[in-house]
This record gives sequence, structure tokens and C-alpha cells, in this order.
Amino acid sequence: MKALSLHQLSKTYKSGVVALREITLDVEQGEFFGLLGPNGAGKSTLIGIVSSLVTPSGGRIEVMGHDLMAKPWEAKSQLGLVPQEFNFNNFETVEQIVLNQAGYYGMPRKEARSRLERFLRELDLWEKRHAVSRTLSGGMKRRLMIARALIHGPKLLILDEPTAGVDIEVRRSMWQFLRRINRDEGVTIILTTHYLEEAESLCRRIAIIDEGRLIEDTDTQSLLERL
Ligand code: ADP
Ligand code: ADP
Repeated sequence: MKALSLHQLSKTYKSGVVALREITLDVEQGEFFGLLGPNGAGKSTLIGIVSSLVTPSGGRIEVMGHDLMAKPWEAKSQLGLVPQEFNFNNFETVEQIVLNQAGYYGMPRKEARSRLERFLRELDLWEKRHAVSRTLSGGMKRRLMIARALIHGPKLLILDEPTAGVDIEVRRSMWQFLRRINRDEGVTIILTTHYLEEAESLCRRIAIIDEGRLIEDTDTQSLLERL
């Protein structure tokens, strides 16, 4: 079973813009996978489709073996998502935001609390658990989105430009955290990034998308040797 399987995925927006052209791509369980490409390449569209925010024009998506159209709940419960924009309620606390997500997925309260504490401590947010989200710095909000995305125990974590606008120290600690959950908890990770350095440091495999086409899909080492 693949963590993510895309088959001839296409998207043409109503405006006529073709954002994705028959993308076929498999990501194996346990991979740390980077999706690179210039602005406008189609990365956010791809992530939008996998997160059910954008309707594909054609093609098939499976998350951990569950077809996203036929079994949306099963597919979504295996998926953790860290979008580019902050999208939480400004007036809820860190703790409420994360626990609400756990509740949405039906996770027992006790288990949710213990996972909450573990993730918040690791992400250096435990001290902030009673702070309302609008008082957090940008870097803290990013880390809160990661905790929220992981709380229900998804096997696949997708992050859209997770370290954009984050200072180097916070970026390094986020990298460490992501490496750890990939290695120790078997969470498959897919991230999009502008930074080749980030993809190089984290990802064992890199795909490059340009003008809606997959133009490269290879292990990081052999890509770097050719650059
Ligand atoms: P869908 O085909 O998924 O229904 P639409 O083509 O209707 O999507 O577009 C969704 C929304 O995004 C529209 O409200 C549209 O105005 C807006 N939109 C249009 N062009 C862009 C763009 N280049 N980037 C972001 N949003 C856009
Ligand atoms: P990336 O994330 O790689 O920058 P996007 O997926 O945002 O790329 O955009 C791919 C193409 O689709 C671009 O030409 C963009 O302007 C267009 N686009 C993105 N969202 C919409 C939308 N909602 N409606 C119409 N066009 C869009």
C-alpha cells in the first residue's frame, strides 16, 4: 500500500488556467518526499486537491489505500495537513485548537491530552498552551499547525512551504522534529518548498513540477549530482 498515490491527476480552473497535467506519482510509506517547483507550477493546487479543498478535473487520488472520492473520511483520517496560511480561530488557545482537531477525528480525550502534551513539549509550545493563537509569533503559529496536523495520528503528513518566513533557528528545530516523527513514528512526510537547501537536507526523494507537469522524480542524491 502506498502512502499517497496520484493517477493522471489534472486540474483546469474555470478561468481556463491548466494547473496540473496528468500527474502520476506514488509516495511509499515512510518516505520523506519533497515537491519543488517555481511559483505557479501547481504545487498548491496539488496539495489543495489532496486536502479536498480543490476539486480535480480528472484523475484518481488514494491516501493509504483509500480512494479520496469514494472513501473521503477514511482517507482524511490518515492525512495531516499543514497549509501555507494560518487558518485557526484567533481567539482560541493553543490547547483548544489542537484538542478540537482531535475531537473532530473522534480521538478519546485522554489519548488526545497525552499526545497534546508530547507534541507541544517537543515543539516548544507547552508553555504557551493557554495563550490565544493571535498572540503567538509566526514561528509559533507554524509549529501549532504541525501539532494540530498530527494530533489524530495520521500516517501521512503534508506540509505546504512549512518554513516560509521562519527564522533559521526555528527552521532547524522544525526540521529536527519532522525528521524524528518520520524516523520514529513512521509518518510519511511530503513537503513543498522553494528552498533547495531544505529539500536537500530533509528529503530522500524529490519531484519537480513545472507548468503543471512532473518533470523530475528522483532520489535527492542523484538530482544533486546532476545540478
Ligand atoms: P474550482 O474550479 O475549483 O471551482 P474556480 O476556478 O471556481 O475553482 O476558482 C476558485 C476561486 O479562486 C474563484 O473565486 C477565483 O476567483 C479564485 N481565483 C481565480 N484565479 C486565481 C488565482 N490565480 N489564484 C488564486 N485564486 C484565484
Ligand atoms: P504553486 O503553488 O506551485 O505556486 P499554484 O497551484 O498556486 O502553483 O498555481 C498553479 C496555476 O494555477 C497558476 O497559474 C495559478 O495562477 C493558477 N491558480 C491557482 N489557484 C487558482 C484558482 N483558484 N483559480 C484559478 N487559477 C488558479
